[in-house]
Amino acid sequence: MRRAGRAELLAIHDALLAAFGPQRWWPAETPFEVMVGAILTQNTNWRNVERAIANLRAARALTPAAMLRLAPEALAELIRPAGYFRVKAARLGHLLAHLRGRHRGSVARMLRAPLPALREELLGINGIGPETADSILLYAAGLPSFVVDAYTKRVFSRHGLVRADASYTEVQALFTSALPADAPLFNEYHALIVRVGKDCCRPREPRCDACPLGPRSARTRRSSGAGRLPFPLPGSSVRRRRGHR
Ligand code: SF4
Repeated sequence: MRRAGRAELLAIHDALLAAFGPQRWWPAETPFEVMVGAILTQNTNWRNVERAIANLRAARALTPAAMLRLAPEALAELIRPAGYFRVKAARLGHLLAHLRGRHRGSVARMLRAPLPALREELLGINGIGPETADSILLYAAGLPSFVVDAYTKRVFSRHGLVRADASYTEVQALFTSALPADAPLFNEYHALIVRVGKDCCRPREPRCDACPLGPRSARTRRSSGAGRLPFPLPGSSVRRRRGHR
């Protein structure tokens, strides 16, 4: 497995940004809404989350105090469109109990902690794993914690920069070991990876010819002297599937 350097990772970011433009994440009005969205988006797509958030907004339940006043069944019913709604209602309950018990219900107070301490605190809340914790750190607290998801693993393993079975921490280290700890950069980068994952890097039939990281784009960048893109790599799973070998 090749190790990507800073220039290569920035070239990928720049190619995605040039193709898709700024993604303006996270689509939420408050840090608490980001936290709620980060839990609701587990194992579902964002459109379903939007419907659940719209229900919460219509019920005026998008503050910790208002959500705490809801009965667990009422909360579960409001978030039903997000799927696994009873499990997610329980997870929101754990977050709310933590906020109330440790921070007097104040999101601002909770998010004031430094990154390592806050990450550890979030991971200690039942139902919050690394991806949810990093999403909250980056998009609610504005801290430089790189978010890894299935799209990240798929795109970067197909380009030979991480193993397909790499752990969350290993994939995260690909970025954090090479890039500056810069929250706006991490914010945009993750959002762009999601965009290319959805639009081009599909699980079965990746649309490499139309992709900003594909061979066409790589050729154009090479001839214009822009940063090199890691495509195609000998032995990559995409090349094999597309019959190049
Ligand atoms: S070039 Fe192909 S493998 Fe690479 S990100 Fe785009 S669709 Fe995925």
